[in-house]
Amino acid sequence: LADLEEVDTLILGSGQGGKLLAWHLARGGQKVAVVERRWVGGSCPAVACLPSKNEIWSAEVAHTVAQSGRFGTNVENVRTDMGAIYARKQAMVDREAAFHVKAYEESGAELIMGRGVFTAPKTIEVELNDGGTRLLKGEQIVINVGSHAMVPDTPGLAASLPLSHIEALELQEVPGHLLIVGGGYVGLEMAQAFRRFGARVTIVERGPRILSREDSDVSDEVLRILMAEGIDVLLSTDVNHVEGLSGVDVTVRLEAASGQRELRATHILVATGRIPNTAGIGLELTGVDLDSRGFVAVTPRLETSAPGIWAIGECAGSPQFTHVSVDDFRVVRDNMAGGHRRTDDRLIPHVVFLDPPLARVGLDETEASRRSTPVRVAKLPMRNVLRTQATDESSGFMKVMIAPDSDQILGFTMIGAQAGEVMAAMQTAILARLPFPRLRDAVIAHLTYAEGLGPLLSNVPPPAAGWPH
Ligand SMILES: Cc1cc2nc3c(=O)[nH]c(=O)nc-3n(C[C@H](O)[C@H](O)[C@H](O)COP(=O)(O)OP(=O)(O)OC[C@H]3O[C@@H](n4cnc5c(N)ncnc54)[C@H](O)[C@@H]3O)c2cc1C
Repeated sequence: LADLEEVDTLILGSGQGGKLLAWHLARGGQKVAVVERRWVGGSCPAVACLPSKNEIWSAEVAHTVAQSGRFGTNVENVRTDMGAIYARKQAMVDREAAFHVKAYEESGAELIMGRGVFTAPKTIEVELNDGGTRLLKGEQIVINVGSHAMVPDTPGLAASLPLSHIEALELQEVPGHLLIVGGGYVGLEMAQAFRRFGARVTIVERGPRILSREDSDVSDEVLRILMAEGIDVLLSTDVNHVEGLSGVDVTVRLEAASGQRELRATHILVATGRIPNTAGIGLELTGVDLDSRGFVAVTPRLETSAPGIWAIGECAGSPQFTHVSVDDFRVVRDNMAGGHRRTDDRLIPHVVFLDPPLARVGLDETEASRRSTPVRVAKLPMRNVLRTQATDESSGFMKVMIAPDSDQILGFTMIGAQAGEVMAAMQTAILARLPFPRLRDAVIAHLTYAEGLGPLLSNVPPPAAGWPH
């Protein structure tokens, strides 16, 4: 049996927040160990955000080239070299891995590559990737194990060895026909990228619209944009049987209100949601409670139900974005140091990296109506943003939510070129509690996309009668 090694802080999973915490604590003089089974820097730089955005950028280049004639540049013999796209992505992933190894070394935190399982409340046994085991005990424990792609129990689906985003990002050939199960952001980003690489793409979504968490005008506009690129989208449709092998030939049976039919594809990609990596790691021995969906139950300070055990990122039920895991790190860092930082008072933006992208921060109409919060809504089509006259990027719109009886900005949604960047300006205004007329009347540089914020905010309806008092 391995000897018990004691450290100050022991972190399970080198996720976004966990590794930042490890480096921070180690630089401060603590003895810190991180147990990671596979990706030295967690999933974001290895198999999620960075590699997907890398290939999506290649897809945008492909699209620009394909459209170049419209802009007066004639290009001949255009073809996609999926091997080169993969190689560029992989070179970045390798650079990221090397950066992380160095960052661990420089910080003094020890990275232990292996699978960790709790054997006692604050003790983890590591099955080392290189063979053998180690047994570690931490004064403080942090769980940052992330999540994995869910594969629905549709008959034949698992046996068809479907792609998840991980395998899709390993493809070195363009699929002939990629069938994507799930119309959430992961599925949509992959759909557009592979369509632009030249694949036939079909999205099958069980619900009545894609991006079900967004307002319906957002879902409708994104649907229109994807269909205009030749992506087939089947809504209110279930896959109820799969036969064959992804990468070779698959036949799916589709069921919709109109009846059943079969569809053949070469590849099948599953993007139907995430399952936390909390099963089978001995959490029942720790006093750490899970919620009904298997996420670690945490307080707004990110404490679990077991004293001295914290949780960070997706496994703690935090919104599933890298920037949230990073902020979870700041919450735990400050609370470990005796502070009072919370997760329930933060403003969390997100971007769906389609072209044009979708960005949202704060309240949208769906959430406002769920909370029965009255709002003033203003909208501006992107074609009314002057910049798009020059670039032809006229799809989409900006939308802002304003309080009914004050000048407070409550939320912003944009589908349009540079939406993520424009959103950051609006997010800053929300955080600063800037009354919307100040932004409406600001002198914003011409000819930028953000210039559209002026006309957008000029469209805000007048306040409810009787205001201001
Ligand atoms: C295709 C895709 C694209 C995405 N794009 C974006 C984006 O553009 N922007 C954005 O903000 N977010 C994006 N995300 C989400 C983002 O990747 C995650 O929210 C982010 O990585 C935070 O994860 P985390 O810190 O919770 O855990 P992770 O980064 O997933 O880390 C958890 C780590 O724990 C390890 N682990 C698990 N169990 C064990 C165990 N028992 N022993 C040892 N190690 C273990 C795992 O190997 C993993 O490395 C994307 C996700 C996907 C799937």
